Amino acid sequence: MNTLLEAETIEKRYRLGSGRVLQAVAGVSLRVGAGEALALVGESGCGKSTLGRALLGLTPIDAGAIRFEGQDIARLSARQMRPVRARMQMVFQDSYASLNPRRNAGEALAEPLRIHKRAGVTERVRELLDWVGLPQSALARYPHEFSGGQRQRLNIARAIALDPVLLVADEPVSALDVSVQAQIINLFRELQERLGLACVFISHDLAVVRQMADRIAVMYLGVIVEEGDGLAVMAAPAHPYTRALLDAVPRPDRPLPPPLIGDVPSPISPPPGCRFHTRCPIAQARCREEVPLLRDIGAGRRVACHFPLTNVL
Ligand code: SF4
Ligand code: MG
Repeated sequence: MNTLLEAETIEKRYRLGSGRVLQAVAGVSLRVGAGEALALVGESGCGKSTLGRALLGLTPIDAGAIRFEGQDIARLSARQMRPVRARMQMVFQDSYASLNPRRNAGEALAEPLRIHKRAGVTERVRELLDWVGLPQSALARYPHEFSGGQRQRLNIARAIALDPVLLVADEPVSALDVSVQAQIINLFRELQERLGLACVFISHDLAVVRQMADRIAVMYLGVIVEEGDGLAVMAAPAHPYTRALLDAVPRPDRPLPPPLIGDVPSPISPPPGCRFHTRCPIAQARCREEVPLLRDIGAGRRVACHFPLTNVL
C-alpha cells in the first residue's frame, strides 16, 4: 500500500501554568496508507485528539516529523501549507463546531469551494448533498434546523468538498444516538471506498470502529501500545490494555462487562516502565522498571508489552 502520511516519533507537550509539563503525545510513529481506514482508539485523555490534530498540522509538534505525500508539513510556511490543507480535512465530534450558525447549508458548502477558487460551485454543492444523503431541500436550512446526524452529514459534505485524500474524524459519532451512529459510520465507509479516501477515525469506543477499521492503533497515555489489522486485533488482542477495552464492550451474552480497574494515571507524571502497569492484571516486576518498546510480532502487528497475550507468528 502506498504511504500517504507518515508520522515519525512525534512528541507534543503542553506547559501548564504551574510550570509542570503534560506530555500528550510521547513519541508516536504511525503510517496511514492511501485509501486506508485507520482507527485510533483509547480512553479520553490518552492523546488521540492531539495526535489527530498534529497529523493534519493543526497543532505544532515539539519533536518528530510528519510527512504527507512526501512533504514534511511541519516545515511548510502558511502559504505552502494552503494547497496541502485542501487535501486533508477534519471532522469534529461537535457538529456545530465548524459551522457558522448564520450561514445556511448551501453557503456552508460553497464557502471552501469559493476560497479555493473552484469552478462550478452550484453543481458541486448539489453533488455534495447527494454524496452524503441529504435532500436538495437542505440547501436553505440553517445548522440548528438539522438533527445531529444530518448536521454531521453536512460537516462531512463540507470536509470532502475540496476532494481531500485524507480525513481525520475525531469522535464523529460520539454525540449521536446509537441508531444514527451506525448510519454515519456506514457513510464514512461508503465515502472512503467510493472516493478512495484515507480516514483516521478517532474513537474511545471499540464497538464503533469494529465496522470500519482496516487497521487499529490503540493509544494509552500518549503512546501507541498496539497496532495491527482491524479484525485480527479484535479477534486476538496482544496487549492487555486492548484486551481490557474489548472486554468493556457490552455484548448480549454478557450484559455486565467488567470495568477497567482504576483510573488512567495523570499524563503529567506517567508511571515508570510500562505506562499501563498500574492497571494491568498481568503486570510483573520488570514492567515497573523497563519501558516496553513497540515491536513487530509478525503479520503486521506491533505491540508494546513485555508479555504479549498473543503470538501472531
Ligand atoms: Fe502489562 Fe507488563 Fe505488558 Fe505493561 S508490559 S501491558 S504491565 S504485561
Ligand atoms: Mg478527544
